[in-house]
Amino acid sequence: MNIKCCEEHADLAIDVIVDELGVAPKITKLNEAEKLSTACEYCSEKAVYIVSN
Ligand SMILES: [Zn+2]
Repeated sequence: MNIKCCEEHADLAIDVIVDELGVAPKITKLNEAEKLSTACEYCSEKAVYIVSN
């Protein structure tokens, strides 16, 4: 599971992974190029993090 999210929704993405999978998520920062081409899954902001299991 991989959730791309903005700064504001990082907590939400972490909760989703903990709730659904019961594991501690890994949080990776997107690089500059990826930030420009990736949108948050919960709003229309640019994504900053990838939260994965
Ligand atoms: Zn967002």
